[in-house]
Amino acid sequence: MSDTKDEKVKKFIELYFGRRLNEFNKIADYKKLSNADVARNTYKTIDEFFICELEITSRELEELKKVTKKFDIFYKAYINGNDDRKKWSERENGLNLYDWFITNDEGEKCGYCGITQDQLSELAKMRGTEEVPNITLNNKQKRKNGTMEIDKIDADGKYESENCKFACPFCNNAKSNLISGLDWEKRFAKVMKRYLIEELEKEC
Ligand SMILES: [Zn+2]
Repeated sequence: MSDTKDEKVKKFIELYFGRRLNEFNKIADYKKLSNADVARNTYKTIDEFFICELEITSRELEELKKVTKKFDIFYKAYINGNDDRKKWSERENGLNLYDWFITNDEGEKCGYCGITQDQLSELAKMRGTEEVPNITLNNKQKRKNGTMEIDKIDADGKYESENCKFACPFCNNAKSNLISGLDWEKRFAKVMKRYLIEELEKEC
């Protein structure tokens, strides 16, 4: 039973995130229908397409959406609107990207120093205000929330699962394209973590 469920999750991720079958013209292409109108007449709604294609009930579809909700939020924030990252998702059928997301702590932690998103958000409030958090020292808008970023370990490499990890803005900015991922991890990540923890302890 759970095997079948896993298969459905995989298929849903492949279709929804890998192929982005969220428009009738894409569904028409995928099902080899002559055009978007035919697809619309066949399925009526996008949800109905997934229900037919995955052979599930509408309740099971809601369940699949729930299971992949965090990934969906990540996808919209980090992948949509960035062509290179979109290619990463398409190349890997969405599935490897999903695996990468899960194995990289769902973006809750910096892959270098280990600071958590919660701690960064806390620091943003300490440096700004509770209502208007800002982690920058000069009140700039860019990076103000201290949101986790995606770092290419080898700056010259592609966006692909082996070459990417979540990095806090502190590690990502300092490492940049000047220090290799390996060197950053070995020589600077621990120091960065200590700095961040000390910053967090300042007001306590
Ligand atoms: Zn970090």
